[in-house]
Amino acid sequence: MKKVLITGAAGFLGSHLCDKFLNEGFYVIGMDNFITGDKKNLKHLENHPHFEFIEHDVTKFVEIKGHLDYILHFASPASPIDYLKIPIQTLKVGSLGTHNLLGVAKAKNARILIASTSEVYGDPLVHPQSEDYYGNVNTIGPRGVYDEAKRFQESLTMAYHRFHGLETRIVRIFNTYGPRMRLNDGRVIPAFMGQALRGEDLTVFGDGLQTRSFCYVDDQVKGIYRLLMSNYVYPVNIGNPHEITIKSFAEEIIRLTGTKTKIVYKELPVNDPLQRQPDISLAKKLLHWEPKIGREEGMKKTFDFFKSLSKEELYKSEHKDFSRYINN
Ligand code: NAD
Ligand code: UDP
Repeated sequence: MKKVLITGAAGFLGSHLCDKFLNEGFYVIGMDNFITGDKKNLKHLENHPHFEFIEHDVTKFVEIKGHLDYILHFASPASPIDYLKIPIQTLKVGSLGTHNLLGVAKAKNARILIASTSEVYGDPLVHPQSEDYYGNVNTIGPRGVYDEAKRFQESLTMAYHRFHGLETRIVRIFNTYGPRMRLNDGRVIPAFMGQALRGEDLTVFGDGLQTRSFCYVDDQVKGIYRLLMSNYVYPVNIGNPHEITIKSFAEEIIRLTGTKTKIVYKELPVNDPLQRQPDISLAKKLLHWEPKIGREEGMKKTFDFFKSLSKEELYKSEHKDFSRYINN
């Protein structure tokens, strides 16, 4: 059986990737330290004969017994509020963690795919963002801990490819959503849906005219799988190009959820990108991939998931006092 190691397995994307690879007939080793993940995302795989889990912090030496064919390195905080709350762990997992995983890939002669992000483009001056854009990142701004860790991760990966001839792949993921996101992780979709379910006003940051383009998780996972199986070593954008302002998006959520609450405006976090839309021409051409699930369908599935959570989870508010993380 082909064997794959997935780091960040207890997180949102990692857990969906575990499902995908098991469905494709792989033996899957999941690894996570639960810093932003949740054991319950993997509960359904507990007794799966082809799944094993290792609780481990990937910034420490990573040891895997036996052969490995593939590695997907997805461990990293991903929500702006998470990475502002744990900035040093974020820098370490992108740098030391990536170094460890590249070392494992080299030792096992495995192909490795690294989870990069649209944040490597920073607050982009080019729109939409294509892979040849170098980006506009403030190294010392609050988001720099994530953006620069991911940029370093890409450089280190290319160095392993060029110097050691390692088989590497880099996916630049644009805002992806779906079931198993943490309700209180601070990202805009769980934030708005949680607020709607609790009957609170929806907090739009800034004037709400900044844009994002949201991709449903099933589309994202298919794109990642195709990229891993392709022979292309340079970064590839995977995301949904359907762009919307955050204000219109909040209005959409109000309609979808039927909440009687209204929009309230809060300060825009420092260096919050004003526009974001993936140019996916490369993924279309190389991977014959494009997203199939529209926002209406994806949001409905996601809302159904959040609605199914317990009252306790709904009212657990990890990031209640998030303003101190975003505006300094
Ligand atoms: P997530 O927070 O749900 O998952 C991340 C997982 O990594 C968590 O389970 C966490 O516990 C684990 N982790 C973090 N540091 C670790 C460490 N040192 N050792 C072991 N495990 C560790 O976030 P997500 O949305 O699933 O993101 C997964 C990956 O995809 C991240 O690398 C993120 O940067 C990237 N990404 C996601 C998006 C998105 O929209 N979801 C966009 C761009 C990039
Ligand atoms: N946002 C918002 N209200 C919230 C949470 C986020 O208006 O309660 C905005 C945020 O300022 C950003 C966009 O929504 O412009 C997407 O934020 P998210 O945290 O999901 O991720 P980002 O795309 O910034 O990494």
